[in-house]
Amino acid sequence: MNKMISGVNRHFFKASGHFRISEPRAFLDRVVRYCETYDLPVSMTQADRLAIKTNMGSVNMRPVSGAVSIHLSAPNDGALHMLRETVAFQIETLEPTCLAGLEWHDEIAQGRLPPNFRMARVVSVSALGRSFWRLIVEGDDLVPFAWDGMHLRLALPARGAPVQWPRLNERGRAVWPEPQDLHVAVYTIRDIDLSIGRLTIDIFRHEGGRTSDWAASAVPGDAIGLIGPGGGWFPSANHLVLAGDETALPAISRILENTGDYVTGTAIVEVAGALDFPLPNVPAGMSLHVLDRANGDRLEAALAQIDLGADGTRHIWVAAEKGRCAAIRGDLRDRRGVTRRESYVTGYWQKT
Ligand SMILES: Cc1cc2nc3c(=O)[nH]c(=O)nc-3n(C[C@H](O)[C@H](O)[C@H](O)COP(=O)(O)OP(=O)(O)OC[C@H]3O[C@@H](n4cnc5c(N)ncnc54)[C@H](O)[C@@H]3O)c2cc1C
Repeated sequence: MNKMISGVNRHFFKASGHFRISEPRAFLDRVVRYCETYDLPVSMTQADRLAIKTNMGSVNMRPVSGAVSIHLSAPNDGALHMLRETVAFQIETLEPTCLAGLEWHDEIAQGRLPPNFRMARVVSVSALGRSFWRLIVEGDDLVPFAWDGMHLRLALPARGAPVQWPRLNERGRAVWPEPQDLHVAVYTIRDIDLSIGRLTIDIFRHEGGRTSDWAASAVPGDAIGLIGPGGGWFPSANHLVLAGDETALPAISRILENTGDYVTGTAIVEVAGALDFPLPNVPAGMSLHVLDRANGDRLEAALAQIDLGADGTRHIWVAAEKGRCAAIRGDLRDRRGVTRRESYVTGYWQKT
């Protein structure tokens, strides 16, 4: 069982485990290189102890004879589960033959739902202008979705078939139903009200969108799974630049509503045609610009013209199509001197 301890930090959920490997120290070096590639905050002490510290909790690994010993600590059960999954994924990626030897010393609730999974029900789906569906769901214990991450994954059961959910296997990993039985997609928590146990998601309607097709035929009471939260929190800086397309509009709206009036900066949203999405309240120090793609207006050109703020006081947040984000990221880093630490530039969807 996961042990709950008292202490000064808020990482009260702990787990430990190990796996056998012939060269444990060399494996840790590879984990360091892997984490550095993905910008994960990793450090290695002289005593060969590796630490990865994220907002989900911390992973500590050290070499012991013929094995790597692992200690995890997290603020809640869901985050602890995510850390277990992360460790298993790293072993699977870096040394796949060792995965079968991964053993957790804690009791695993095999066959249960993953701890970061909540079952919920559709309360309503309504059209938000012509381009979005507003989905409101209700469920028990939505508390984790109120912080630790702005996003979640929706798990949408296939219609006309028995509902299938993910289950934990004997190693504590989630085993997922086939994609045709349970479709999973990442969305932003636009709003959450714990007093009535409801959260709101705004779904952009686009060609071939399995989630928007699901929303079009959803009715109150339909079962839905919520996984998370995850994927970052509101950016914090004296000067903020927010930019994105329709898929980023819910996140930009929520960030603006949670930003103080003392913050300066600009938000830019690129949409097709006149925007009929309700605009958020904008903090006094910021402005919001809506670009019409149909007129040839683009995020890239707008970003090139605006003041990004001074080094060390700014944060540049961009989310849009993956290829465009890669180009924007390169431009910000190479031409405008924006560091990784000062920016979040993420592909929210991929053109196929
Ligand atoms: C952290 C994060 C937060 C997100 N938040 C939101 C949100 O709050 N609201 C929201 O609407 N989206 C959001 N997205 C984007 C959403 O996850 C993608 O649009 C995703 O592809 C939708 O999944 P799907 O299963 O419906 O479609 P998929 O099966 O992934 O894609 C089906 C087809 O649709 C195309 N497609 C996907 N997105 C678009 C698009 N925007 N325009 C045109 N074609 C598209 C794909 O290329 C593919 O051909 C978010 C993504 C991330 C990573």
